[in-house]
Amino acid sequence: MTGFVHDALPMRVVFGSGALDRVAEEVDRLGLRRVLVLSTPRQGALAARVTDLLGERAAGTFDGARMHVPVETVAAAVAVVEELGADGCLAIGGGSTIGLAKALSLRLGLPSVAVPTTYAGSEMTPVWGLTEHGRKTTGRDPVVLPGSVVYDPDLTHALPAAVSGPSGLNAIAHAVEALYAPNGTPVVGAMAERGVRDLAAALPQVVADGSDGAARSLALEGAWLCGACLGATTMGLHHKLCHVLGGMLDVPHAETHAIVLPHVAAFNLPAAPEADAVLRRALGTDDVPAALLSLGAAVGVPDGLQALGVRHEDLARVADEVLAAPYSNPVAPTRADLEAILDAAWRG
Ligand code: NAD
Repeated sequence: MTGFVHDALPMRVVFGSGALDRVAEEVDRLGLRRVLVLSTPRQGALAARVTDLLGERAAGTFDGARMHVPVETVAAAVAVVEELGADGCLAIGGGSTIGLAKALSLRLGLPSVAVPTTYAGSEMTPVWGLTEHGRKTTGRDPVVLPGSVVYDPDLTHALPAAVSGPSGLNAIAHAVEALYAPNGTPVVGAMAERGVRDLAAALPQVVADGSDGAARSLALEGAWLCGACLGATTMGLHHKLCHVLGGMLDVPHAETHAIVLPHVAAFNLPAAPEADAVLRRALGTDDVPAALLSLGAAVGVPDGLQALGVRHEDLARVADEVLAAPYSNPVAPTRADLEAILDAAWRG
């Protein structure tokens, strides 16, 4: 790395076991008086708990958050905001729920508090996404960054092992790509190394015992750091491939990241020796792609894209779309490179 520009994003993080009890304080700090609590239908009970904690600061709840932020869901949430006269929102859940809060910030300028319960990292990024007619569009806007993020590892105990492992690898993917991003900096590099080390140490323990408080805390800390890497840099081939796979074939987000990552790492790292060196240190290995593959196998990542129901004949279309609008990457992939990466990821 010769020269760099480090442009830090605003970030307020309240972290620790029991931190959920501090949501009301965070809402007050932002000057909000009537917040709408957002969740998925599955996390309605958690939303009710937050509503109790907020007392009169809660205007109501909307538990209709859905994967990939469909515009219809946003329209329904906007109607509830307007009906209740909400002046902000509190998103409790994974990337889908935080994505809905971001859409409300984008549409209505509503400030938000995020309480993440997975390792996806969306709360640390100014990236929003919206899905209309089956097509997802994304963009960057600082207005969608939460004003405060409350990380309470206790909330992740309920995250099933089969979701925790892939979700943690989704976070690791953010750090891997930040390490060879054109806008990486020493601060980003330090966060990436620490985040990968934390998650690689914690995930096998989290999967073995979901109520291991120390492991859950370490994993969530790693996810925070890796999410901050995603927010600070532009992503490369791995994120592009996963974005196209998700949009075109409707495969689950975290699992797709977890499956694809070792194969993109095997392609990219020979062209990114500094990133490779950091990842070797973080993972305690001489072979980063092999270590990522075995970490995935150890934490229950499905065995290849074929296990997600992807048909081999769909891969050519994925390669076409990736080539049509490539992301910056340490080495520009040819069509044959992309087919080889996708084939390896499909086989697992
Ligand atoms: P998710 O938010 O869709 O959650 C998956 C399911 O798990 C949901 O039903 C949710 O309610 C449930 N769940 C979440 N936490 C739980 C817990 N602790 N216990 C029990 N159940 C729990 O999944 P995700 O992987 O967190 O997010 C994926 C979405 O986030 C994708 O749409 C992706 O594009 C987006 N994302 C965006 C960014 C960004 O920067 N904009 C970054 C990462 C992910």
